[in-house]
Amino acid sequence: IPATNAADLPAAPLRLRHWIGGAWVDSADGATSERRSPAHGVAVSVAAKGGRAEAEAAIAAARNAFDTGAWPKTSGKERATLLLKVADLIDRDRAKIARQEVLESGKPIAQAMAEIEGAADIWRYAAALARTQSGESHNSLGPDMLGLVLKEPIGVVSLITPWNFPFLIISQKLPFALAAGCTAVVKPSELTPGTTVMLGELLEEAGLPQGVCNIVLGYGDPVGEVLSTDARVDMVSFTGSTGVGKRITAAASATLKKVSLELGGKNPQVIFADADLDQAADAIAFGVYFNAGECCNSGSRIIVHEDVAAELVDKIVALSRKVPFGDPLDPRTQVGAIISPEHLDKIDGYVRGAVAAGARVALGGAALPVGGLGAQFYQPTIVTDVRPEMAIAREEVFGPVLSVLTFRTADEAIALANDAAYGLSAGVWSRDVSTCLDFMRRVRAGTIWTNTWMDGFAELPFGGFKESGQGRELGRYGLEEFLEVKTVQMRIGQTRG
Ligand code: NAD
Repeated sequence: IPATNAADLPAAPLRLRHWIGGAWVDSADGATSERRSPAHGVAVSVAAKGGRAEAEAAIAAARNAFDTGAWPKTSGKERATLLLKVADLIDRDRAKIARQEVLESGKPIAQAMAEIEGAADIWRYAAALARTQSGESHNSLGPDMLGLVLKEPIGVVSLITPWNFPFLIISQKLPFALAAGCTAVVKPSELTPGTTVMLGELLEEAGLPQGVCNIVLGYGDPVGEVLSTDARVDMVSFTGSTGVGKRITAAASATLKKVSLELGGKNPQVIFADADLDQAADAIAFGVYFNAGECCNSGSRIIVHEDVAAELVDKIVALSRKVPFGDPLDPRTQVGAIISPEHLDKIDGYVRGAVAAGARVALGGAALPVGGLGAQFYQPTIVTDVRPEMAIAREEVFGPVLSVLTFRTADEAIALANDAAYGLSAGVWSRDVSTCLDFMRRVRAGTIWTNTWMDGFAELPFGGFKESGQGRELGRYGLEEFLEVKTVQMRIGQTRG
């Protein structure tokens, strides 16, 4: 896909400021950081670069809004009304938001549009939860006792997000936190701050009271660290790499704040010999190239029965040759640019390392300059003859790279599927329901896809086993994360005397 005409790129970068206590402000020291489009190389945003002072001011504003403000005391109906208004505003501005997401991340515009539309749907789902959440009552504790279990907002929450789905991931956290009655400090990735600021502007337009949501722009050090350590914060909800998740857990332990983590994955798909190979090949290609593989749910590791391995790989190679890749602003593009040159080198390093260890490249295997756009693109790549001990089979590659392993027996396949530090999602392809059920029971992952890959629904919880995280987003569980449980015991009837 050829390059977009230079005249259609932004003439000037978007100026982004922090949102603290209802005011849009620059950093006290005037520091900024510039983001260039990974595909086009032009400046697309210049963001205030926050320090300790901005992070602490935002926490103070959120604390004040929680302790003395109206939001935690609003009814579910009032919260739902606001969340629905935000969803409508997201719909109104979706083309503008999607374009900024493309310019900062390099993802294809069609995928960005789907992401923004999906996010609006999540805001609507959280609005429904705001009106339906309730506690418990116990009236069989004895003749004169009544027990109540109340659900209260946990308090001030820090929401820290990564660069790969900036608008979707904040929408898996913030509407649930707001539905629970919490107040928040949000820190988007330094690489993709623009659409989170746009969301803040929509929250302001929808009438969210000042200080209920605050946004601080900047890096993990110091902004993310302050948000994870400050005693005035009650909970950190983080999505990002497992390494940073561990650091946040350690940092938060001094004040014993709750930590909820959505981390990396090395997601296996097992293809049995009786599977519909055309259907599987189609979903595997989509699952590994979606968002250029920069996706926690990337189906980057397939484990295929040796009798059908050659046939399946041929089908995936044929489909991969046709994947439109290039300028992410073109609506036909399905694989866009890689987030940074350093990350592209890391992806390439995994492929080279696998080849050096005896694997074979069946397709791709190198960066490819796209006409007029430079070299920040990596070809759709398929690596076969991968062995389980290779880094490419165990670590998150986070690029458009598929690793192919083979198996003989179901026990061997399930052992290989479980052979990872991660446990985010896993898939099984077979026409035999008992084969699928056996896989579902024995594989340790937060989501099991059966004869499909990477569907997502606001109604269904999402999260990881093992080093893929703790806690859940979406579904009713996504709201429960932001609620604290309070037990009330009441003596009823006559009091003595
Ligand atoms: P990252 O961990 O480098 O950064 C994530 C966020 O944490 C950024 O905002 C960053 O500034 C901040 N941060 C960095 N150091 C910090 C610190 N010490 N304290 C507090 N905050 C800090 O992740 P990334 O490279 O932006 O994103 C890619 C990773 O995210 C991948 O591992 C991917 O699998 C994971 N991810 C997981 C899910 C999920 O739902 N499980 C979804 C998307 C992405």
